[in-house]
Amino acid sequence: MTPEYTIALVAHDNCKNDLIEWVAFNKEKLKQHKLVCTGTTGKLVEAEINKNCEKGSRDYIRITKLKSGPLGGDQQLGAMIAENKIDFTFFFWDPMAQQPHDVDVKALLRITVLYNVPTACNRTTADFLISSSLFENGEYEKKIYDYTDYTKRKIKLG
Ligand code: PGA
Repeated sequence: MTPEYTIALVAHDNCKNDLIEWVAFNKEKLKQHKLVCTGTTGKLVEAEINKNCEKGSRDYIRITKLKSGPLGGDQQLGAMIAENKIDFTFFFWDPMAQQPHDVDVKALLRITVLYNVPTACNRTTADFLISSSLFENGEYEKKIYDYTDYTKRKIKLG
């Protein structure tokens, strides 16, 4: 049985259409998990997931909406990753446009690698990830890297 994952979904403005199409296609799968999004992406994802469902009804799926990416949402998500609260990240970032929060984008991508979080940055990778048998069966044991040497390193002062 597929375990309940916490899945992060983020898309830059020019990629939001792509992400929402992908969400529509994978709606039934995604509904089984907790979803966390940056603000604007979150509003669109929630609307798509609940397309035929009244707000307030029993079946309405609420997703966690962080701040909008440029207003700190990417950093909030990075903090969740550092606290091992995110199992998968689907981050459709725009390779053709500079962002006001480019440094936050870089930081978010870095932290996903640091904590070995499976991360899809384009639609094809997203398709492969969500349809993987490892995603389905939940038996994969992710390698947790040990950073003790780093945290215990000696700092020479003075
Ligand atoms: P948004 O942020 O979902 O609030 O548009 C996305 C991002 O730029 O990280």
